[in-house]
Amino acid sequence: MTAYDAVVIGAGHNGLAAAIHLAAQGWSVAVVEGCSEPGGAVKTRELTLPGFRHDFAAMNLSMFAGSPFFATYKDELIAHGLGLVPVRRCFASVFRDGTCLGVSTDLEETAGAIGALSSEDAEAWRKLFGEFGTDAPHIFGLLGSPMPSLAAAKVVWKAWREKGSGWLYDTARMLLASPRDFLDARFRHDKIKAMMSAWGLHLDFAPDVAGGALFPYLESMANQAFGMVIGRGGAGTIIKAMTALLKTKGGEILLGTPVERIEVSKGVATGVTLADGRTITARKAVISNVHPKLLFGRLMSADPAREAFDRKIEKFRAGPGTMMIHLAMDGLPDWKAGAVLNSFAYVHVAPDLAMMSRVYAEAMAGLLPAEPVLVVGQPTALDPSRAPDGRHVLWVQVRVLPAEIQGDASGTIVGTHWDEVKNAYADRVLDILEIYAPGAKAKILGRAVFSPIDLERENPNLIGGDNLSGSHHLDQNFLFRPIAGYSRYRTPVKSLYLCGASTWPGAGTGAGSGFMLAKMLAGKR
Ligand SMILES: Cc1cc2nc3c(=O)[nH]c(=O)nc-3n(C[C@H](O)[C@H](O)[C@H](O)COP(=O)(O)OP(=O)(O)OC[C@H]3O[C@@H](n4cnc5c(N)ncnc54)[C@H](O)[C@@H]3O)c2cc1C
Repeated sequence: MTAYDAVVIGAGHNGLAAAIHLAAQGWSVAVVEGCSEPGGAVKTRELTLPGFRHDFAAMNLSMFAGSPFFATYKDELIAHGLGLVPVRRCFASVFRDGTCLGVSTDLEETAGAIGALSSEDAEAWRKLFGEFGTDAPHIFGLLGSPMPSLAAAKVVWKAWREKGSGWLYDTARMLLASPRDFLDARFRHDKIKAMMSAWGLHLDFAPDVAGGALFPYLESMANQAFGMVIGRGGAGTIIKAMTALLKTKGGEILLGTPVERIEVSKGVATGVTLADGRTITARKAVISNVHPKLLFGRLMSADPAREAFDRKIEKFRAGPGTMMIHLAMDGLPDWKAGAVLNSFAYVHVAPDLAMMSRVYAEAMAGLLPAEPVLVVGQPTALDPSRAPDGRHVLWVQVRVLPAEIQGDASGTIVGTHWDEVKNAYADRVLDILEIYAPGAKAKILGRAVFSPIDLERENPNLIGGDNLSGSHHLDQNFLFRPIAGYSRYRTPVKSLYLCGASTWPGAGTGAGSGFMLAKMLAGKR
């Protein structure tokens, strides 16, 4: 039997962030990971052909690069091999008429493109961006504070002192607004609304879902201000650097050994038992980077004292599923809208709000969307090291999909299990790509398709292929993530703590929950 101060279950980046910070504070820490590879939803692998390196899930590391965790450990992570690639032309949308609209860090370039559609909208963009400069510290301060906490209250107090009650009301309204309502109040042209709204569907916010305005606003303004960041050689660079840093701080990582049971004695978590029968004792904390539904549904023995809590966790809703199509390419797509698109990290194929609403409604009804939303990542346009000379990889994320299929909205794909239909559905996706980039299909050298169910097979936290590890709708976010009363990472079991995308501040590569939890446990650095 082995004993540590803390055992972290799951080597996702949140679990690793918690482990690093605790190890840095002198705790002895072991991280136990079920997969043979660390990283969870952040991994880079040859998935198609030799020499073509694909980001299995997350590609955009802007949240990591902007995180308090990175600010604290930046130098050490870089010393342990972390490489980031800044992106100037961040995201663009393509439209049915063969045009595009995108955001680059050059304000004149972005505002110029918007101005060609509507001079009023160009002014509105500049205004919103100008306000973002002074709003951002408060908004990011809130997103980077435990919820609820004195720190969060101080952020609100400071914002009120600096900006007044009017600003607080406006910000609260924005937090509650749907993407459409937020955008309609500020912009006129449908293309700019579509370009921003597409970010809502990276989470589970269709244009008319309350609470969905925040992400389109933040992504649009943050990309304008800071650009995007991807990993040099792949997003896995952060995991490589984090695992190396953890080891130099004395932490241990056990791979390929899923935790099967949390050991609890007299209401206190005391350690874990692994699938291979080994037991690891935790003297101070068992930290779970495992989805809370799996933790309490499978790894904990039932306890009548926990019944109400367990019932609420059981009701924690997944967001819709996603699908990843990884392509090895002979060249970048020849976008109808122009070669300029080849310099953007993301191209959204989400041409209007009506189709985004339709896709969401179809997916929520269990139907394979007739025309899904695509996020086409072009990492090798910015980091050629990921593919052989002159060749490229494409990262195609399909949003949003049902986990369980009831039928096909266009009535052509037969089958209700993802294993049966995933290739036919990937063909539909590539046909859509072909409309916007004629000839793209002929450039495909190899492809790897991960259905929502395949994603879950790779990482059990992605239940039903939910890339968010839990819907981010308002009733499951902020104070309510994962459930009311437990947003500060504790559980009804003493010494058992939660972190990860299912906890505040939610999904993404910002390492927020792991770092905030570790700071609470070990004190601030
Ligand atoms: C397809 C896709 C694309 C995405 N794109 C982006 C993007 O571009 N940018 C961005 O910021 N975010 C993106 N996200 C979201 C982001 O990647 C995740 O929210 C984030 O990586 C979650 O990190 P985590 O540490 O909370 O958990 P995870 O990364 O899910 O890690 C959890 C770990 O726990 C392990 N585990 C589970 N059960 C057990 C057990 N019983 N025993 C031991 N180990 C166990 C799992 O194997 C896994 O390694 C994407 C997600 C997906 C799925």
